[in-house]
Amino acid sequence: MSFFSKAADQDKWKEKYLNLLDEQEQSAESYKEKEDLLCKTIVRLTIATTGLEPLLDPHLLSIRDQLKNGINSHTLKDELEKFTNSVAQIKHAPPQNQAPETDLLFTFLLQQYTAETQQNALKQLKKKTETEAFGTPNQLFIAILEAIEPDNDTAASNVIAGHIDIEIVSKQLLHLLEGIEIPSIFDQQAQAAKSLLAAAAKNPASFETILDKSFKLLLKIKQHSQSEQQDIDKFLSHITEQLATLDISVMGASTAAQKSAENRTKLDQSVSEQMEELKLSSTNATKLEPLKGIISNRLANIAKEIQEHTQKEAIQRQKTQQQLDDLANKIKEMESESTELKSKLKIANNQALRDPLTGLPNRNAYNERLEIELARWKRYHSPLSLIVWDIDHFKTINDSYGHKAGDKVLLLIAKQLSDHSRATDFISRFGGEEFTMLLPNTDTQSALVLANQLRQTIEKTGFNASGASVAITISCGLTEFILNDTDETAFERADQALYLAKEQGRNRCCVL
Ligand code: GH3
Ligand code: MG
Ligand code: MG
Repeated sequence: MSFFSKAADQDKWKEKYLNLLDEQEQSAESYKEKEDLLCKTIVRLTIATTGLEPLLDPHLLSIRDQLKNGINSHTLKDELEKFTNSVAQIKHAPPQNQAPETDLLFTFLLQQYTAETQQNALKQLKKKTETEAFGTPNQLFIAILEAIEPDNDTAASNVIAGHIDIEIVSKQLLHLLEGIEIPSIFDQQAQAAKSLLAAAAKNPASFETILDKSFKLLLKIKQHSQSEQQDIDKFLSHITEQLATLDISVMGASTAAQKSAENRTKLDQSVSEQMEELKLSSTNATKLEPLKGIISNRLANIAKEIQEHTQKEAIQRQKTQQQLDDLANKIKEMESESTELKSKLKIANNQALRDPLTGLPNRNAYNERLEIELARWKRYHSPLSLIVWDIDHFKTINDSYGHKAGDKVLLLIAKQLSDHSRATDFISRFGGEEFTMLLPNTDTQSALVLANQLRQTIEKTGFNASGASVAITISCGLTEFILNDTDETAFERADQALYLAKEQGRNRCCVL
């Protein structure tokens, strides 16, 4: 039976889910864009930080490689874990001599100047910085310019003159800052650094400070990105757990109602699909805060819809249960009605076939039974005898002791006849004070023996009426069914035999 039989309900749910799916698709697109941005940012940061610490370099390279084809949270997580372990090892390593910003600078320069000569010169210079300290940043930049543009006369003259091209270096740094996606909390600092870099050429005296600020900002961004990534990881695993729990409850509900309606299955599928979408979105998300909001909204929506669904289902189930109960009650009523009817019919049938005074089968019953016995007699040719009994001078009993006493006599004789005949013999009260007996498998002789025994039993019984002992006798006419007999012809013979018995003085049995 469907729990959502109403078309309106179906449409409502359908619309809700379609809307959710639309939102989901839009979010997915936005996530994709954010993912691309995050990839780019991380790639740039890894580029910027390569060379900072030899222990981290292979991980940074690996992270960069992986990000080329988009974020895969599992592999990326593994790599980040390795990365974190390596960071932990660094803490125990002896402190490095050179400033991190020098390394950052070289990494950046190596990325920018890719000609073989430039690369070799820069690497050589980098090595040199690791062993000997440069007096001032200016000296270092002179050396860098030499490495980058060895044949440039202007540069050489600049070097000789002890100058560096502040404009070139600031432009490159500006380019780097603009290329990196900067977390919003660093917006102001980044803006300030960019303005300083843009105006650096005009203010060479403070170039060292500008450089220092820019590199420190880059380091902060890097650290922030790492911690944000860890936060995202934590949040994602939390969300995944929540989704799994919710998923299980939906699946559980689904299992419970698996035999129920198609609409219910559709709802479960729809919710499950949303769960999958949600998991996917969570996995692909790049920003923690908006992600938290989106996920929370989605979960709240799904939970709400499941709750509404459960409530509706419960109401529907209650209704269905009520209907089933009503139905069961109706069936019960019908059953008891039918039982009552049956017993009434049985009673009616009994009444139709029984004599109410004596409880013996009546004349109708006799006729029915005679039909059966006659058929049997015709088929098997076994003897069948018929006795017609009549109470002697019954009218006198009635007249002398009253009708009630007469009834008692009728009852008494009925009992005696029943008690002293065989189970196969069929006794009936034919009418008035007359009784009939059908004796299957009994010939005339045997029937006569039985009849006389009964007659004598009744004779011996006697009856007390008004304190006086009243003699009761009974006479019978007996006949055995013969060829071509009908019920009527046989009865007529038995009746004639009875007449003979009366005529011959009563309290006797005659055969014809
Ligand atoms: P006979 O020996 O020739 O059979 O004489 P009888 O008096 O028995 O025969 P009769 O046919 O003259 O009378 C039968 C009586 O049985 C008449 C009737 O009032 C009485 N009777 C018939 N049915 C009932 C009954 O159900 N109760 C009582 N008390 N009497 C009945
Ligand atoms: Mg009679
Ligand atoms: Mg009689």
